[in-house]
Amino acid sequence: MLNIVIFGAPGSGKGTQSERLIDEYGLHHISTGDVLRRHIAEGTELGTVANQYISQGHLIPDDLMISVLEDVLDSNPELTAKGVIFDGFPRTIDQAKSLNTMLEKRGTKVHAVVGLEVNEDDLIKRLLQRGKESGRSDDNLDTIRERLNVYHNQTSPLRDFYVNEGKYHAIDGNSDVDHVFESIKTSLDRKLA
Ligand code: ADP
Repeated sequence: MLNIVIFGAPGSGKGTQSERLIDEYGLHHISTGDVLRRHIAEGTELGTVANQYISQGHLIPDDLMISVLEDVLDSNPELTAKGVIFDGFPRTIDQAKSLNTMLEKRGTKVHAVVGLEVNEDDLIKRLLQRGKESGRSDDNLDTIRERLNVYHNQTSPLRDFYVNEGKYHAIDGNSDVDHVFESIKTSLDRKLA
């Protein structure tokens, strides 16, 4: 069993590479952004709250986000049996500590963290391009800038957290999808060998 965290700034390719990794390693994908967008689309109470943060480019508060993730894990016990790609979670040190506790309780752990490293100009270009098709309320220039600020202030410290745990795999995410995927695979396969 393999649990992977895919980590990186907005627009770094986490969702795209997660799809490839699912096929390659037979994992289940948990994207907290997708979970929240489903709630927004269904008009749930959580969706209403989440939408206020997402449309501003801010993070959903840790307590709420951690309980959302715990619910996803509880309602799908078979997921953690096979292994999961966590995409968009954790985004803060507190979330990372909670993830460790949640997985420990279930007899497992984070095995590896794939960090997609992409330069800032390209991130903005990719997100603006995606905004033309996605219809996402947060893919416009002002919100993108805010999401990148939030990433630098609250999320990027996780890199050192996972480096210290010996789990961080730095991946150059500036090239095309196939190349990036090959780098991830090489790095993970070396670890798993
Ligand atoms: P991206 O990585 O492109 O920003 P996501 O779909 O992962 O997109 O997340 C979209 C938004 O959902 C975030 O900007 C944030 O508002 C909210 N969100 C997703 N995951 C989390 C999380 N773990 N903690 C707090 N907020 C989150």
